[in-house]
Amino acid sequence: MTCGDGRADYKRVKEVVSGIIDNNFITQPPVNAKKIAENSGLVVLFVDFPEKLAEVAGFLDFQSKTIYVNSDDEPFRQNFTIAHELGHWFLHKNRVSEYQLLMRKPIGGETSPLEKEANFFAASLLVPADMLLNCRLQNMSNSDIAKKFKVTKAVIDLRIADEQKA
Ligand SMILES: [Zn+2]
Repeated sequence: MTCGDGRADYKRVKEVVSGIIDNNFITQPPVNAKKIAENSGLVVLFVDFPEKLAEVAGFLDFQSKTIYVNSDDEPFRQNFTIAHELGHWFLHKNRVSEYQLLMRKPIGGETSPLEKEANFFAASLLVPADMLLNCRLQNMSNSDIAKKFKVTKAVIDLRIADEQKA
């Protein structure tokens, strides 16, 4: 258990994600985050956010186990939003007070360790390492890989950078 020392624990995220991939029998892309959320006992709602939440991509209500997704976003982005909020559900149930809404801005650049973990969770869940490697061995371009996994190219770029870090 981390003690809120301000650092993202990527190793733990990787372990949690790989358990979820196994439990949901995910063997090929694309990964449907909504289905995994529902298999995990959560409800996913696509809603028209009021104007003051117009810049919000989505959020999780821990108490009602509901993920709210901005219905104005593209399906790829919504899939990422659900995966991101799912990350908070699996990783941060005991740190609800530090939780933040997910904004509709490009991913990356977050400084909060919780947000970094949730983004890493989402990217690793939607683009599992072995499936990514498979595509790269076939010399697929990042944009073709993105289409296959139904994520934005930014997510693939992020995943490849992550793999090279490890
Ligand atoms: Zn978040």
